[in-house]
Amino acid sequence: MARSPIQGGLAGSVRRGLAGPVQRGLSTLAQRVATPPIPVPTLADTITARQRFFGVDAVDADTGAARSDQVILSWFGCASFAVALGGSVFLLDAWVPRGATSGYVPTTPAEVAALRPAAIFIGHGHFDHAADAGPIAQASGAVVHGTAEHCATARKQVPGTPEFRCVELGSSASLPGDRYDFELAPGVSVTAIRHIHSARTSRYEGADACDPVKPTPALRDIRSYPPSLADTAHLLRRLTDPEGGVLLYQFRTDTFTLTWHDSSGPLSDKAPRVVEVLRTLPESDVHVGAVQGYNQFTNGLRDPRTYIEALRPKVFVPNHHDNWLPLITARGEAFRAPMEAELSRMTTVPELRMLLDPTDYIVPGRLSFPAK
Ligand SMILES: [Zn+2]
Repeated sequence: MARSPIQGGLAGSVRRGLAGPVQRGLSTLAQRVATPPIPVPTLADTITARQRFFGVDAVDADTGAARSDQVILSWFGCASFAVALGGSVFLLDAWVPRGATSGYVPTTPAEVAALRPAAIFIGHGHFDHAADAGPIAQASGAVVHGTAEHCATARKQVPGTPEFRCVELGSSASLPGDRYDFELAPGVSVTAIRHIHSARTSRYEGADACDPVKPTPALRDIRSYPPSLADTAHLLRRLTDPEGGVLLYQFRTDTFTLTWHDSSGPLSDKAPRVVEVLRTLPESDVHVGAVQGYNQFTNGLRDPRTYIEALRPKVFVPNHHDNWLPLITARGEAFRAPMEAELSRMTTVPELRMLLDPTDYIVPGRLSFPAK
């Protein structure tokens, strides 16, 4: 039954009337429970953190240097990874999930900063990807990479005058498919490709038709890992950080190719140029791609598969599928069967390296590969 204008008007004015005080109350709470800045890590902090994230054997006990004969990724929630590749240590996204829970991911922004990453690569600016980027860069000296908007957001996350550098890879004016090539370190080259955020589309037809994926939110993790006031305040402060464009990154040494993206957009519908550009890249040894997104409710995992088909990986690793915000998310286990089914539709099926939360957080052995 259609709602009367009175009902609609009443509901609207109650919402509008509440919005002001509720928003003001929340932002006062968020401001009051300020997070102290992350201290600058010592060498001892760095050695300890790197040994925990990458394994004792992978890190020199005197200098903290990461060995270069292995590529190691350590997952710390949602789409965030610490990576050791070609002797360089860097971060893909920078957020330790918290706010609806505390301690579900067993680390802190201070420990991530202690890794002393040379760089932070931002996939997009939403809080679940970049909410800790500014404070971690400020403490660790990492150079942030992202669009002009991501750089602006990261700077705003730091009180006072931010001292970290941010390399701007395009801006809101860039187009899907735009490409940026640069060197991270001697022997480690990077390609960033502008793509698009996940978005709901109308149902795909024919060979592209896929079953929706609708996991039930796993609220029990809020009871097991109740949130602290400080973590809830952190989440509220960052909740509206803007997307600012979406970037996919490929990292290459002479012998290894790693590709990562933290959202999977409806490329075939909205940005077919991106598919063409991804096909021109070298095949990926490891492809880490987002599988959770708005289109899963309509078109299942068809959008993630578009990326996998274009990137042709040997190993595919899902991300962004864990219980990073248990009011709306479930545990990664819910994606295992749909992921297997989706991959089985491919002509050349990559190995699926499924990550499960919370057991696979900061377990370097899950994603260690010989650098050949
Ligand atoms: Zn997002």
